Amino acid sequence: PSPVRAALETVQPYKSGMTLAEAGRRAGRSDFSKLASNENLLGPSPKVAEAVMAAMAHPEIYPDPYSETLRNALATSLAVDPARIVVSPGSEGLIDYLFRAVIAPGETILLSTPTFPAYEIFGRCAEATIIDVPRLANFDLDVEAFKVEAAKGPKLLVLCTPNNPTGNALTGVDIGEILAVTPRSTVVFVDEAYREYHEAFNTFALLEAWGGPWVSARTFSKAYGLAGLRVGYGVASSAELVGYLDRLRPPFNVTAASQAAALAALADVEHLERTVALTIAERGRVETALAALGIEHTRSHANFVFLKTPAGPEATSERLLQEGLIIRPTPVAGGWVRITIGRPADNDRLIAALPAALAH
Ligand code: PMP
Repeated sequence: PSPVRAALETVQPYKSGMTLAEAGRRAGRSDFSKLASNENLLGPSPKVAEAVMAAMAHPEIYPDPYSETLRNALATSLAVDPARIVVSPGSEGLIDYLFRAVIAPGETILLSTPTFPAYEIFGRCAEATIIDVPRLANFDLDVEAFKVEAAKGPKLLVLCTPNNPTGNALTGVDIGEILAVTPRSTVVFVDEAYREYHEAFNTFALLEAWGGPWVSARTFSKAYGLAGLRVGYGVASSAELVGYLDRLRPPFNVTAASQAAALAALADVEHLERTVALTIAERGRVETALAALGIEHTRSHANFVFLKTPAGPEATSERLLQEGLIIRPTPVAGGWVRITIGRPADNDRLIAALPAALAH
């Protein structure tokens, strides 16, 4: 007999993008452009390194279990009560807390694939029933079909915008229409990991106007360039909901170095704006190259492109790996890969390698 709960038998562990070490073993080189995990290769604010060193003066002391200073800074920047903010080791941590807090066995999670696999993984671990409304052919959310399911009152409703891995974004109108039919007994979770690349609407205002329980997830892993330090956060509809998450959140969940890094990154608005603008401009350059090759791709609003490769995802990924580029093959029907936008030199290298890598 298995030593674990039966629910775990149905879960496939999360498979992350290839690491530099693995790529090195596979391709026998070390000069990779790592374009598989939607990191910001332009890096964080230069102020981060100093802040981390200062925070590490006393590694013998536990970090602040409530990330008070960081929550206060976030509260000021977002104009919300700090008691409505919870900090986590990446937004993955937040997904874990929320799903465990909200889902009892057999309850339902409404989502729309292809999307970030963590929802299904944490959902299955919590013994949820997953209701999937597949995306349209262009990978936009099928708003009408989604509304039909939302109106039935799932326990948890997940909206990822911009969506990983497809890059598609919702409009404020889409979200308003979905919320208008969603009962206030449903918990709405909006994953905004890529928000800094596409600030299309005031999420909090839309959710507050709806009036049920909600959490918006954000992260320092993407635009802020701190994926290695693991800091994310959620803004919730109420301090009470954050209080429930605190019951199952490990007390010292975010290291002192990570809290300090996030605080420094948050303060450097100019650096954030500059790197986001450069990434969006570079995305345009990669999209122009794809169009010139006649390659179908989605309208991405994030720091990556999602494209259909005539060679198939595995062959394209392998060919690019041999050229020193790590990208992400996906299981999406039709043969799609996701490629992160890197530094200009990484993107030059990608554009040069694409014709041979995509050729049937
Ligand atoms: N949400 C989405 C949509 C993502 O793409 C990712 C990272 N791939 C995450 C959450 C989790 O990122 P992190 O835990 O680093 O914040």
